[in-house]
Amino acid sequence: MASSPPFPSRLLYYDGKPRPASSGKTFQTVNPADATPLADVHIASHSDIDAAIASADRAFASWSQTPPIVRARILQRAAAILRERNDDIARVETLDSGKAYSETSVVDVVTGADVLEYYANLVGGGGLNGETTQLREDAWVYTKKAPLGVCVGIGAWNYPIQIALWKSAPCLAAGNTMVYKPSEFTPLHAQTLAEIYTEAGLPDGVFNVVNGAGDVGAYLTSHPLVAKVSFTGQVATGMKVAGSAAGNMKYVTMELGGKSPLLILPDAELENAVDGAMMANFYSTGQVCTNGTRVFVPASMRPAFEKRLVEKMQYVRPGSLFDPATNFGPLSSKIHLDKVTSYIRHGLEVDKAKLLYGGLGKPNVPKDLENGYWVQPTIFTDCTDDMRIVKEEIFGPVMSILYYQTIEEAVHRANNTELGLAAGVFTRDINLAHRIIDQLQAGITWVNSWGESPAEMPVGGWKKSGVGVENGRKGIEAWVRNKSTLVDMNGAVATVFAKL
Ligand code: NDP
Repeated sequence: MASSPPFPSRLLYYDGKPRPASSGKTFQTVNPADATPLADVHIASHSDIDAAIASADRAFASWSQTPPIVRARILQRAAAILRERNDDIARVETLDSGKAYSETSVVDVVTGADVLEYYANLVGGGGLNGETTQLREDAWVYTKKAPLGVCVGIGAWNYPIQIALWKSAPCLAAGNTMVYKPSEFTPLHAQTLAEIYTEAGLPDGVFNVVNGAGDVGAYLTSHPLVAKVSFTGQVATGMKVAGSAAGNMKYVTMELGGKSPLLILPDAELENAVDGAMMANFYSTGQVCTNGTRVFVPASMRPAFEKRLVEKMQYVRPGSLFDPATNFGPLSSKIHLDKVTSYIRHGLEVDKAKLLYGGLGKPNVPKDLENGYWVQPTIFTDCTDDMRIVKEEIFGPVMSILYYQTIEEAVHRANNTELGLAAGVFTRDINLAHRIIDQLQAGITWVNSWGESPAEMPVGGWKKSGVGVENGRKGIEAWVRNKSTLVDMNGAVATVFAKL
């Protein structure tokens, strides 16, 4: 007889309580490190989704009228609880997503709580105030930033609780309510987050969770009571979601994929450049939307760069996810393993790219993890722009090195893509760094660094990588609409229709 999974079933959550799905249907979420089941997850039926949206709609009336300072206090309490329970939540994130605990324990919950605290402080401190403009002595215009209503958040699987927080924090701070759908591959955090919000004092119905696959997402995005959809995921899915939402005049934010260029300039400090390239490709086993997977290196630097890079690859350490030394986990699912493996195979057999490190086959991991979805960190060198591994987002630990002769050429090639999520430059010449950054077509850029994305920094893609931004002062604007009011103390009729 099959043993039951280690975690209790994950339910839906609406109107302030966990609730079983009316369909009675469930799916299992699996630990990607060893392919064992973790929990049964309830799948929302259409009537469950309707109920969750109705609960968010009811809650909107009073939450939107709750003074910002009171909303802020509740969200600050939630941030404090998240921090207190960091290690427990991070442990579950590690089991669900396959990311090493050395990462989840210091990044995933922390960076989510930071954003919650940031927006609580912003709205509590008057950050949602409108503007007043004096027109004439007796007339002025004032504007108000009004919440949108019921908003939908749909998340990807790579930063589960962080994505849920990056969406719900500004949404709730601005006075909206939310129905959130986590990825079916990493759903464990969502009920926990909803319970923490309730414990912190969030009124029933303000934050709700429905579980399920793409069809649940599609039903949410076309629902007539929904005012906005904030989506994180692949470009192809984003296009469907944006089409469905925009067709119904809903607001959208789209955080999509990338194929980001990292430019190492001839004067770059070698050690820093190699570290940057590794960080941009192997952190989170390469499952980061902003990964710098196209590494442009001056042809003259080739021997030194490749030598140091290969030497340093020993510091990428797959292994037991709770071993503090482990910094490289499995891929998040069997489907994703098959996808990444097929790209590596394509690189070897069709693109005929030169393999510098890794390749097909699993890395060395303890025997009890052999059924997990492991892939080797892989580096292809001397790649060309027309290779499929260079053009398409792989979303795994696969670096492509591209050599260039002139900086102008590197910038031109870096921009030669339909995507524009992130970009970065490594150089000791700070003036040149800013000139190059200015020319790169991407919404998120770094100089002599890669990957840090603090609460204060608005992030979002250009071109097909997205619409709008999350985080920073700019991020809250995506969760409000403007109302302008003109006040004239003389009255309107007097001027036009007055008696001659
Ligand atoms: P997907 O696009 O496959 O899925 C994202 C979410 O959308 C999931 O919850 C999914 O459900 C849901 N979904 C699927 N089909 C539909 C639909 N028709 N309507 C509404 N929702 C739907 O992305 P992944 O989960 O594979 O995530 C990886 C991608 O996310 C990468 O491309 C990565 O670059 C991008 N990403 C972007 C970030 C950014 O900030 N720009 C940050 C993180 C990731 P389910 O999977 O449960 O079936």
